Amino acid sequence: FTRLREGLARTSGRLGSGIADLFTKAKFDAATLDELEDLLIQADLGVDTAQRITQEVGRQRHERGLDAAGVRGVVATEVEKALADVAKPLVVDNAPKPFVILMVGVNGSGKTTTIGKLAQKFRSEGKSVWLAAGDTFRAAAVEQLAVWAGRIGVPIVKKDIGADASGLAFEALEKAKAANADVLMIDTAGRLQNRSELMQELEKIARVIKKLDADAPHAVLLVLDATVGQNALGQVEAFQKTAGVTGLVMTKLDGTARGGILVAVAEKFGLPIHFIGVGEGVVDLEPFDARDFARALVG
Ligand code: GDP
Repeated sequence: FTRLREGLARTSGRLGSGIADLFTKAKFDAATLDELEDLLIQADLGVDTAQRITQEVGRQRHERGLDAAGVRGVVATEVEKALADVAKPLVVDNAPKPFVILMVGVNGSGKTTTIGKLAQKFRSEGKSVWLAAGDTFRAAAVEQLAVWAGRIGVPIVKKDIGADASGLAFEALEKAKAANADVLMIDTAGRLQNRSELMQELEKIARVIKKLDADAPHAVLLVLDATVGQNALGQVEAFQKTAGVTGLVMTKLDGTARGGILVAVAEKFGLPIHFIGVGEGVVDLEPFDARDFARALVG
């Protein structure tokens, strides 16, 4: 919880001091509630959520009086409620092996880093992991994934730049199956300037690996960068339509004062959120917990 709290310090610092400032005014009235709503909107929680929380604060303030800590408590409770249904662990079952995870997301969202962090996590649980360097467009992406694989000590299947990603995914699944691996994570390209081409590529990877396992991929994780703010909503929409996203990972929550975007994404799409990234290090990936997140968000 300490790491999560530190990771969300920029958001909670702004929200917490903003709420404290509301109480330096002589009166807590309708205008104060409007200011609270603005604070929540600035933290990117979304207009609907901000309104609902503000109404609840107004109601409780009227009924029983609230100090700054009380307001933070109401905000946390309401955020937790909004997230309760989407906070779901990623369940990795192994029938038949391996559990295939397709990682999707725009370039720079933290996909490669998240694959590394997840690989480490699975390894620490005693699972055997294979990686596939499916972003065959960027040499840097392949190299970066290979560095992670070396660091963690897991096998990686990679090919030359420009190779067919679906062929590579097929080969990786064949090898991971032969090795009786528990998990295969497939990295994918993430350039969005040509959206339809990208989406076709993702569909093709999914189609081709189904020849080896009709249920693969067992999970399609969309990696979202929290620092892009409202743009995250458009990314979910685009990938949800074409890539069959089954769950989300939100990265770089440590790099923004607007971590409420996670709440906005949860409210708009209702997709499971499995993990959050709160730093660049291998340990900076947290299973997503609604209560802990809500408490850390308000400080
Ligand atoms: P990709 O292009 O989607 O594969 O993105 P990368 O994994 O290369 O990540 C892009 C940058 O974001 C790198 O510098 C990562 O170290 C950084 N990054 C990834 N996740 C996090 C996170 O949770 N917090 C912070 N602060 N940086 C992150």
